[in-house]
Amino acid sequence: MRIDVVSIFPDYLAALDLSLIGKAREDGLLDVAVHDLRDFTHDRHRTVDDTPYGGGAGMVMKAQPWSEALDHVVAQGHAAGLPGGRPHLVVPGPGGTPFTQALARQLADEPWLAFACGRYEGIDERVYEYAREDLGLEVSVISLGDYVLNGGEVAVLAMVEAVGRLIPGVIGNAESLVEESHEDGLLEYPIYTKPQQWKGREVPPVLLSGNHAAIAAWRHDQRLARTAARRPDLLHPSHGDADLDVRLAT
Ligand code: SAM
Repeated sequence: MRIDVVSIFPDYLAALDLSLIGKAREDGLLDVAVHDLRDFTHDRHRTVDDTPYGGGAGMVMKAQPWSEALDHVVAQGHAAGLPGGRPHLVVPGPGGTPFTQALARQLADEPWLAFACGRYEGIDERVYEYAREDLGLEVSVISLGDYVLNGGEVAVLAMVEAVGRLIPGVIGNAESLVEESHEDGLLEYPIYTKPQQWKGREVPPVLLSGNHAAIAAWRHDQRLARTAARRPDLLHPSHGDADLDVRLAT
């Protein structure tokens, strides 16, 4: 997968060199290019923002550097012979579609994603129109949650990590993705490792029993109880009997 990120703080994205995403880049599973929006300005001060029409607090990101940056991303991708022709443009924003595991899975199927990191009050609305109408891009505004960040960079780090780990080969053991929280609507069961006894606390005996059916049943009950306690909004009749002792769930 190819990922382009445009930001006025390209150094913010240095974390994409680390850990599993960094390894995926080294292994050629992910091709990430970070672009500095200020490289597409033409004045001495490399200005990317201006005052809002209609008045009000804060500044608005100007359309001109954004259009040139997006032109560059598309042209560079074409020069590299990218499949799919055009990137799906993701603009992080608190007013967007909530980011979920299901959405991460959809984005993981795309061959090419471009992320536009807003700052200040956000980006001039005409940039979205330009991307859709002139560049022919699919544009999605996606929110990390119901709160306001200072910029899109943190949201992009979260989205790239959630999407990147779903690309085949990025996580060594693909099995580990299957039972995770939010994959089937339930949260994950409690997990333990050695030692068996720690500061007077025991590992639940069923996990030491070697009885795989009993372990699977216990884990399912724990998933239901934990979801009922922490996220009752996620429960659905298809998940089975959620009428369990929610005190089990920590
Ligand atoms: N004026 C905007 C509003 O009220 O919707 C908020 C702008 S915010 C201060 C600056 C930038 O941070 C946004 O353009 C967006 O890129 C990013 N951002 C803030 N909160 C976000 C969230 N919950 N999810 C994704 N991106 C967010």
